[in-house]
Amino acid sequence: MQAIKMEKPGSYDVLKVVDIDMPIAKTGELLIEVKATAVNRTDIVTRENKNLTAPYPILGVEIAGVVIENHSQDQRFQPGAKVCGLVNHGGYANYAVIPSERAMLIPENLDFEEAAGLPEVFLTAYQTLYWLGELKENETVLIHAGASGVGTAAIQLAKQLTNAKVIVTAGSQEKLDFCLRLGADYGINYRTEDFAKEVLAKTDGQGADVILDFVGASYWDQNLASIGTDGRWVLIGTLGGTMIEQINLRDLMQKRISLKGTLLTPRSDAYKAKLTNEFMEKVFPYFMDKKIKPIIDTVFPLTDVQHAHQYMENNQNIGKLILKMY
Ligand code: NAP
Repeated sequence: MQAIKMEKPGSYDVLKVVDIDMPIAKTGELLIEVKATAVNRTDIVTRENKNLTAPYPILGVEIAGVVIENHSQDQRFQPGAKVCGLVNHGGYANYAVIPSERAMLIPENLDFEEAAGLPEVFLTAYQTLYWLGELKENETVLIHAGASGVGTAAIQLAKQLTNAKVIVTAGSQEKLDFCLRLGADYGINYRTEDFAKEVLAKTDGQGADVILDFVGASYWDQNLASIGTDGRWVLIGTLGGTMIEQINLRDLMQKRISLKGTLLTPRSDAYKAKLTNEFMEKVFPYFMDKKIKPIIDTVFPLTDVQHAHQYMENNQNIGKLILKMY
């Protein structure tokens, strides 16, 4: 089969199309003919990781495709069934294996490309908004990088599931307008405005109940100022750096802030299975009713993977970048 492999850790030009053996599904797994996969920031982090040693993993943490072999007891996944879900690497390939308990039958109104853009960002957004952020009906959530893959998923979930007041930040008017069309209540351009000041103005000085923070260090002070008493601050990315020179812990105590960091990819199989199950039960009806949809920016052929990585690194995408196999 064809797959994308990295020659060594480095820039996008280390990604190459290679011919390799097909993966072998073990008990409890499905062998999938991959129709589409998607690019995620975690792929870029893995690609750049100088501590990795050969053999390097095939990138790609999510897939959509057709079941070829079912090595599980789950009768929903007969050969021919259309599924999507999270994989432990290996998505950028013609075939991949997925634990059956992490596979989701694709809703009929989604094609493979849309379905490939669903698992990573929607499961992340659901987990961080609800399991970690404990977002409740009518609360206010501040979603940074609102036009990102995870951001576009989080806006829709927060509005549809909890009717939250959604405030987003983004770096351009085009991205903010897109977020507003998707349902966000307020958009703040972090390049031209002080987002903390704006969040307080939009919440009668109370601040946000939940912050989805993809940015980290560079937003530390403004996030502290934006969050309300008893606020839940979920750190899921460090696009703005990892090191902060000075932290006054009293600020966290004063507002009784819960600061939670998380990474989905290294979570256990059991955790991902539980998350997938709850997500299917609570959120799939919204996909079927067309109230929520994966936001796709561009579909690239698999062979154009270097371009897709470059596009994401340049922060050009609104929503997801998909790699199609055919
Ligand atoms: P994405 O679609 O590539 O979007 C990221 C956006 O963030 C960029 O387009 C850019 O938009 C904004 N951005 C980049 N650098 C920034 C900076 N220094 N300050 C402020 N904004 C910046 O990303 P994604 O795949 O949705 O992922 C979003 C984040 O979530 C990433 O950090 C990713 O690693 C993280 N993530 C974490 C988990 C987890 O489990 N912890 C899971 C999935 C994703 P603007 O033009 O608006 O600046």
